[in-house]
Amino acid sequence: MELLFEKSRPGRSHGYLPACDTPVYSFDSSLLRETDAAFPALSENDISRHYSALEERTYGVNDGIYPLGSCTMKYNPKINEQCAALPGFTDIHPLQNRDTVQGCMEVMDLLKRDLCEITGMDAMTLQPAAGAHGEFTGMMLIKRYHELRGEGEIRNKVIVPDSSHGTNPATGAMNGLTVVSIPSAEDGSVDLEALKAAVGEDTAGLMLTNPNTLGIFDKNITEITRIIHEAGGLCYYDGANLNAVMGVVRPGDMGFDCIHLNLHKTFSTPHGGGGPGAGAVGCKEFLKDYLPEDISAAYPGVCFGENSIGKVRSFQGNFLVAVRALAYVLSLGREGVRKSAQTAVLNANYLKALLADTYEMANPGLCMHEFVMTMQKEHKETGASALDIAKGLLDEGIHPPTIYFPLIVHEALMAEPTETESRESLEKTADIFRRVYEKALADPEAAHHWPVSAVIGRPDEVTAARKPVLRWHSDN
Ligand SMILES: *Cc1c(COP(=O)(O)O)cnc(C)c1O
Repeated sequence: MELLFEKSRPGRSHGYLPACDTPVYSFDSSLLRETDAAFPALSENDISRHYSALEERTYGVNDGIYPLGSCTMKYNPKINEQCAALPGFTDIHPLQNRDTVQGCMEVMDLLKRDLCEITGMDAMTLQPAAGAHGEFTGMMLIKRYHELRGEGEIRNKVIVPDSSHGTNPATGAMNGLTVVSIPSAEDGSVDLEALKAAVGEDTAGLMLTNPNTLGIFDKNITEITRIIHEAGGLCYYDGANLNAVMGVVRPGDMGFDCIHLNLHKTFSTPHGGGGPGAGAVGCKEFLKDYLPEDISAAYPGVCFGENSIGKVRSFQGNFLVAVRALAYVLSLGREGVRKSAQTAVLNANYLKALLADTYEMANPGLCMHEFVMTMQKEHKETGASALDIAKGLLDEGIHPPTIYFPLIVHEALMAEPTETESRESLEKTADIFRRVYEKALADPEAAHHWPVSAVIGRPDEVTAARKPVLRWHSDN
């Protein structure tokens, strides 16, 4: 597909702009460019067709199921978008006097209150811009706690199970902590003996996702947090995805001291295209003073408590993400939040049961909001891989699940259907998954060349990640 720059023709335009009615300021010539910027010259029709063609090439939750495990690609009710588009929320400035944005302040306060209730925490900040940013902030609170007790130097290790999301060890390392990875038990839960062996006077804390990336709710969770607390460490809950538990159980009651939530996963902000997110961070009362919160009444004069870790992002974070989250929580209500989690778990188990005769499951039995299949045996015997299945699903017109994650499962396919898919949609998806599996095993050689219908089939993913071509040069 040609870029707008390549479609450009000198002189072509769509000149609706009115004549400039403000005084023209003459900049010093040293500040001016020597040649005009090479903006593409296009007719309105060219532009309209270009963006329609781009739209046809993308796939989103509005097109069909998007069962990307650990990502929660679910349908986000349009009413939340409508709320976030209200002029009272969009036409404001972060430096506006506090008296004039009372409604916005209230939105943030109400959301913090509701998220505290859902998670069992005592205080929240909405500042962090994403999940990984929230983890970083949360672990800073934990570090500050040890520092103020004079143990900052000794407590320099963070324990992370090997089933964890990659951002967890990265967060520990970014905070200057040594990451201690502990193996999972046979059933995918935390190996208690390995945990006991890993804790000590140097333990700053534990980072855990529960249910974990295998979709398993750890039955020993209170024992796990007790072991960490007994050793003097704190417990961090990676709540990027709260779909399985919200309204049912609370991380605060499981013994966790600090948590982040991805409002752009569970709480209704569309994501995946690099748009704005929010990694709200909650904590128990004893960590509250370290939060990066503006505690002064004289907004916008920023004032933090003397023990605060300081600001982690400008102003109040991605405020419109908070508006959507509040609209979502309030429209679901107490019962709706709980039902949403129950439906997410029911849907995952239904899809898992429909697929269990075809795909080998990494963990048989009931799951929470997601489950992991493995192509390990098939790959060894026939060469058909998880990657082949994912590419084959593209040809069938649906988005593939997450692949090769979690790392502890070989040839993994990790599916999270979410609560917003209907029974018919799940059954149709299961049919497609089975069909692709059968086709792959019938002709593994052909499967290595899937997809046949997509515009881009098998890019060199390493080069694409390491040396992305993000700029267009006119001399290309
Ligand atoms: C998505 C996710 C993250 C990271 O969130 P980002 O907003 O992408 O930074 C962290 N942990 C888990 C378990 C996740 O699923």
